[in-house]
Amino acid sequence: MEIKFERYHLQSDLRSPLKGFETISVPTEVRIDPLTKRRSRIITWALPPQEKFDFSKMVEQSKGCIFCPENVLQKTPQFVKEISSEGRISIGGATGFPNLYPAGTYGSIVVLCRDHFLNVNQLTPEIYKEGLLVSIEIIQRTMIFDPDARYWQLSQNFLLPGGSSILHPHLQVIGDPIPTNEMGWLLDASSSYYQRNGTHYWKDLIRIEKGLGKRYITNIGNVHWFVSFAPIGFNEVCGSVEGHGSIITLNKEEIASLAEGIVSTLKYYDAKNLNSFNFSIYSISGETSYQLFLRVISRTPFQPNYLNDCTSFEVLQSELTSNIFPEELCHEIRPYFPRGV
Ligand SMILES: [Zn+2]
Repeated sequence: MEIKFERYHLQSDLRSPLKGFETISVPTEVRIDPLTKRRSRIITWALPPQEKFDFSKMVEQSKGCIFCPENVLQKTPQFVKEISSEGRISIGGATGFPNLYPAGTYGSIVVLCRDHFLNVNQLTPEIYKEGLLVSIEIIQRTMIFDPDARYWQLSQNFLLPGGSSILHPHLQVIGDPIPTNEMGWLLDASSSYYQRNGTHYWKDLIRIEKGLGKRYITNIGNVHWFVSFAPIGFNEVCGSVEGHGSIITLNKEEIASLAEGIVSTLKYYDAKNLNSFNFSIYSISGETSYQLFLRVISRTPFQPNYLNDCTSFEVLQSELTSNIFPEELCHEIRPYFPRGV
């Protein structure tokens, strides 16, 4: 077995104007992801904490959007008849329909709730459960129609820093016959790990992380929650569902566990005044060496003098930065999760 937690310690010496021009030494850590071998950089200084932003003016100006209940069944597109004869798929407060501006073969939107706006601390497990159920229904029906669409991303872009121009909470559910870059990297690395070791990377990783206890948060049923050794985003929390590669085979308890872990993470973000985030579930059918995986990351909060968190490091050097040590994040976020069972 070859899971290694490799890191490089970098050190920068300078004479600080904040300390009377004394020489100080600032550390940075570069970590290598044990699966993909991608480098990420953990910086040890952080921006000062922000106050909570008041969204009421933005909400007032934008309410009555196309995802609001009075419009969603009138103004959004309908699925082709082969996928849904009713046109849209609704469960509880969640409604799914095709994206008018799709980014792939099967691009759908799942509006999560009737409320036009919710703060991160107002999103509930029930909201995500219904949203995931609608997403699964879309994927199942699409795959009956087109079994080649094996690669699905279920993602949320929350508020403008997360890349969404619409405040109304919604998911992007996108399916294709080819993987995204990230899915391709995860699949190739999982499969070559299996060939080299004869064991399943995800099972090995969870066993090791559980044993170490430094980055393993908890398990909620079959869903394991942990912080990755080499994060690719800020405050990154990961989930993985034992025994599944695709979301369409999950049972009701597993779907509820995913929803609960997402909301636990968001409660922590809210406590840190982080009001914007992204998550992606990488759902892939027919790959035995892969296990269903999810990442949630925070984005720099929406506020006056907003600072974009993608610099030349991320967009041009492909080296992702974050500003909290994963072990520290794990320690801080544990109380926000239910106890493992
Ligand atoms: Zn709305």
